[in-house]
Amino acid sequence: MPKIYDKIDLTEKNKTKRKKNTSANNAAKKSRTSKNTKKTAEKKTAASASGSSAKKTDTAKKTRKKDVASPKPATKSRQKKISSDEPLQIISLGGLEEIGKNMTLFICGNDAVIVDCGMAFPDDDLLGVDTVIPDFTYLESIKDKLRGLVVTHGHEDHIGGIPFLLQQFHLPIYATPLTIGLIGSKMEETGMNASSLFNTVHTGDTIHLGCFDIEFIRVNHSIPDSAALAITTPAGVIIHTGDFKIDYTPVFEETADLGRLSEYGENGVLALLCDSTNAENPGNSLSESHVGSSFEALFSRAEGKRVIIATFSSNIQRLQQIIDFAENHGRKVAVSGRSMQNNVEIAQELGYLKFRDGTMIDMDSVNSYAPEDLVIITTGSQGEPMSALSRMAAGEHRQIKITSKDFIIISATPIPGNEKAVTRVINSLLKLGSDVIYESMYEVHASGHACQNEIKLMISLVRPKYFFPVHGEYKHLIANRATAVSMGIPERNVILSEIGKVVEFSHGKAGFSGTVDSGRVLVDGYGIGDVGAAVLRERKRLSSDGLVFVVCGIENGSGEIVSGPEVISRGFVYVRDSEELMNDIRNRTTELLESFRSSRRYRRGEMQELIRAELGRLLYQKTKKSPMIIPVILDI
Ligand SMILES: [Zn+2]
Ligand SMILES: [Zn+2]
Repeated sequence: MPKIYDKIDLTEKNKTKRKKNTSANNAAKKSRTSKNTKKTAEKKTAASASGSSAKKTDTAKKTRKKDVASPKPATKSRQKKISSDEPLQIISLGGLEEIGKNMTLFICGNDAVIVDCGMAFPDDDLLGVDTVIPDFTYLESIKDKLRGLVVTHGHEDHIGGIPFLLQQFHLPIYATPLTIGLIGSKMEETGMNASSLFNTVHTGDTIHLGCFDIEFIRVNHSIPDSAALAITTPAGVIIHTGDFKIDYTPVFEETADLGRLSEYGENGVLALLCDSTNAENPGNSLSESHVGSSFEALFSRAEGKRVIIATFSSNIQRLQQIIDFAENHGRKVAVSGRSMQNNVEIAQELGYLKFRDGTMIDMDSVNSYAPEDLVIITTGSQGEPMSALSRMAAGEHRQIKITSKDFIIISATPIPGNEKAVTRVINSLLKLGSDVIYESMYEVHASGHACQNEIKLMISLVRPKYFFPVHGEYKHLIANRATAVSMGIPERNVILSEIGKVVEFSHGKAGFSGTVDSGRVLVDGYGIGDVGAAVLRERKRLSSDGLVFVVCGIENGSGEIVSGPEVISRGFVYVRDSEELMNDIRNRTTELLESFRSSRRYRRGEMQELIRAELGRLLYQKTKKSPMIIPVILDI
């Protein structure tokens, strides 16, 4: 009788687990002491994780050679290892019920591997917070098991948390060349040199980290060099799609390695962790080369005008198409925006972006060219306030003044939440007289994520026993489940997990077994975790109700008021129309100070506290607002 995945079973399992272990930390201890006799696996760990980086590369190279000689190494090792009854735990520390900060932990016996470490952009309610990253607390408790960080591709929601992770954990990183290049430039920005931790892996290669064999499999996505992972573990093979789509006519790269995926499928896959971003959309995602034909039409419409195209700086395939069209139409290309300039440089260095000598010109020289001879590629496709396109729209860009001689293409779909900002930028650009082409007008963007047909193909190739939707809001995970069920996967074999939940595979069966510390960590500037709930509450209050200072000087000793009370308010009320209210504040403060004087109590803290509380009551009564009140009492 399979004890899996209907609600009762899960609760039972949870209960028994909890009885045995107070936390998954203990569970980890337990598995360490239990029948862990895989000497060979341990030896491998020592070779690949604790050696120097040169050794690691050697190991990887050897593996690659071995892979070429025997086409199905993963299968062999799987059959060898599947006899082990070491359970496998998969824990998402981010990326479920959200799009952003993807991070998944695979733990088996004495070994743990992290897949991706991303960041999320803050919601509107996180005032002044720059970045949101996963909570790494749990990693501290399994520190000795961590064998490395494997990264599927170079998007921020997969690499953005790495600088913060490396501040706490010294881990080797395994990724494809472009991904390593992008992580490297990210580390440089923070001033940390992490290059000794970098291990470049090509798709088709297999790396060995502890008891895990991990093969990088080529997939298509909106950034080159994206990989799915086939993770062979003692408990079975797990396929993690990473972010993927299947593009039969990709730009300057090959179609996803469907053959390799189906080989794994043939040999048995325990679970498929599958990208859910576009799971609500039927059909297929648009091919990247389709965007090319839209560009072709738009370039002819833009005759006589300067073309300005905003897109994601990481979408190297898109940049290549734009550069090709520019060259075909005899136009020069200039690049605006720091991340765009960075990425163009990295991609060109690594050979992912090709252009003729003389095509690229410096931003500073754009004004010496006629409009019809130029294409400007810029950041700002999401309406980001400080981006180059927003500065152009506001008339604040150093080199570009928008006029009716400009033909602007926004080649990206607004990420949910950014629609208003994008609309604002479009409106401003239109007011300046330019043409603006955006999302709904042309197919100027192709999503990088699989729609239902591609997900169906993935499922039919991989034929997993368990389907584990990841990378999506709850509604996306649910939609992805429906697709899997329509393909014949029983609903009880679909794993709908949550951040911090431990999914455990043992003897070919899956179930939940407790939770670990997890959540989000807010980063303000470079400080990690220094923005707590209290700080956010204060910022919220300041932004909605403003600030009131009450300043007065009292004579040291007598307690007599010698200056003030002076009232200064910011963002609270319009002072000129509120003379009466300001008087009320002054009068009430004077009363309070007098009462202190007559009772001969001058303890400043106490006085300030009372003034704050009393004025708070008064202002709420009169205005229904709760500004932050700061009484300042000076001894004179
Ligand atoms: Zn991505
Ligand atoms: Zn992603």
